[in-house]
Amino acid sequence: MDCLFCRIANKKTDTKLIYEDKNVSCFFDINPKAPVHILIVPKKHISSINEINSRNVNILGEMFLVAKKLAKKFNISEGYRLVFNIGKKAGQEVDHLHLHLLGGFKK
Ligand code: 5GP
Ligand code: ZN
Repeated sequence: MDCLFCRIANKKTDTKLIYEDKNVSCFFDINPKAPVHILIVPKKHISSINEINSRNVNILGEMFLVAKKLAKKFNISEGYRLVFNIGKKAGQEVDHLHLHLLGGFKK
């Protein structure tokens, strides 16, 4: 299986990671929809929230903690959005779980 976010998250591309730890990688969205738009991605392949179960659910907590940490690092703690798109009908284009961190809005 060839998955774009598997490759980016595991450093098989030129995309610069702005944060990584054991289970999670983060990078800027190539087509930002906010002044700060970061994608928070598990290193292990999970297609979407629909594939979350009792064995892998802990990754979601890790992703939210990383989001909070990066919001602080990029000075957007006062106001940001965290978004999962689940399924094509909701606009999910990349079939590898990712949390959008969006911030830096004017008001
Ligand atoms: P989705 O629509 O699946 O929730 O979000 C996928 C996001 O990935 C989009 O916001 C899109 O701009 C971003 N994206 C797609 N391909 C690449 C890429 O090759 N590199 C980076 N950095 N972002 C990408
Ligand atoms: Zn993947």
